Amino acid sequence: MTIQNPENENPSEPWLTYNRALVVMAHPDDAEFGCGGTLAKLVNNGMELAYVVCTNGNKGSNDLTMTSDRLAVIRESEQRGACSVIGAREVTFLGYGDGELEASVELIGKIVREIRKFKPDIVICQDPWRGRHNHRDHRNAGQATFDAVYPYARDHLHFPEQLESGLETHKVLEIYATMTENPDVIVDISDSIHHKINALKEHKSQIGDPDALEERILSNTSELAKTHGFEYAEGFRRHTFSFGRAPTPKTQS
Ligand SMILES: [Zn+2]
Repeated sequence: MTIQNPENENPSEPWLTYNRALVVMAHPDDAEFGCGGTLAKLVNNGMELAYVVCTNGNKGSNDLTMTSDRLAVIRESEQRGACSVIGAREVTFLGYGDGELEASVELIGKIVREIRKFKPDIVICQDPWRGRHNHRDHRNAGQATFDAVYPYARDHLHFPEQLESGLETHKVLEIYATMTENPDVIVDISDSIHHKINALKEHKSQIGDPDALEERILSNTSELAKTHGFEYAEGFRRHTFSFGRAPTPKTQS
């Protein structure tokens, strides 16, 4: 694919001239498990970051006394805690039930609305095409996000009611797919690994023993880093669109 921003071509930090990133994930905690170090690094580099979480994660418990209603409330609050550790500007919950996500035009429309509102330069989502079995919600969230970026968010005849309500069409420049195989962008997260771990520790209902979690994260992220000369790393499949526009300016504060 054509690279529109050649000045971005530091292979392990290809987003440096961008200003806004939107992460779209199936469940609370997916963003932090998949790419929390990178998200914290983007914010530390001065990018504005927003989250979209498609489901409320209300089936993720092996506590037999837990109910789905209670769990949904707990998981939203845990996700807000994690977003604040990462430094995200906002989080939008689409409110689908855990395990009930379809890559439907309805879901695509909701993601398109968030893209048209936030106007990200890059979108980070789950890889819908990885080779081995993929959680159904991850697959559908990833597929719907790719579809939302192209062609739906770009073209004015898709979801025209959004435009009537004041939103504009939007061209996302790149997608970075996390939870992938054979990543082609390896991000050095040595400076932000502790943001990732601390953000994951906010998901108390999911992680069990926090020390064991920390050990597992350090081991997984150092495994990938080894062959690239970093201490800790996260990997992505990068998809660049040939839309050719300048990055969205930062919000004036
Ligand atoms: Zn998940």
